[in-house]
Amino acid sequence: MQQTPHDLSDGVARFQREVFPAKAELYARLAEAHRPTTLFIGCSDARVVPELITQSEPGELFVVRTAGNLVPAHAAGPDGVAASIEYAVAVLGVTAIVVCGHSACGAMTALAEGRDLSAASSVAGWLRQADTSVARTAAAVAGPDRLSALIRENVRAQLANLATHPSVARAQAAGALTLRGWVYDIRSGAVAELAPAADRPASVAPVAPAASVTPVAV
Ligand SMILES: [Zn+2]
Repeated sequence: MQQTPHDLSDGVARFQREVFPAKAELYARLAEAHRPTTLFIGCSDARVVPELITQSEPGELFVVRTAGNLVPAHAAGPDGVAASIEYAVAVLGVTAIVVCGHSACGAMTALAEGRDLSAASSVAGWLRQADTSVARTAAAVAGPDRLSALIRENVRAQLANLATHPSVARAQAAGALTLRGWVYDIRSGAVAELAPAADRPASVAPVAPAASVTPVAV
């Protein structure tokens, strides 16, 4: 169902009437302190909702969402994603970073199928960052599995890119930060945890059974 701006206003009214009063104590605490435990980096895709998937409360996840859940490697110059990563790790002191890819990702589908993105030059430029992942999976996998292989490889590549950020490297060296790679399946609700890149091409393991609604501890 499509939402309209009118529906959004209704949602805000319902939040203020029904949701906020029930958690007034939590919101009072949050007004004084911002202490998230996890940096969640996901795709901007509207179907991938970090707080819903992980059953997290407000204040628990510091969230960055980009097209294709891409994380640029550390580089000189202004970079909004890098600033958010550094703020989460070095200032807020999150102890975990989750990079979450997902099934049916538009960005990864465009790459896996070699679609013409010449009419969307910003998208094309952004997705160039996944060239290496595309090359890796194009050589290794053929047929319908190619998209899911690219989605997994892309998550691993972002974990590697994360490690190039000085704040992340520092926290990792101090043993204060864990990096995790997930893939969320929209149809089943399953969340698979990717094995570390060193184990490539290791398979994936479920974070929690798809049929269960048990919150994932991160
Ligand atoms: Zn996506």
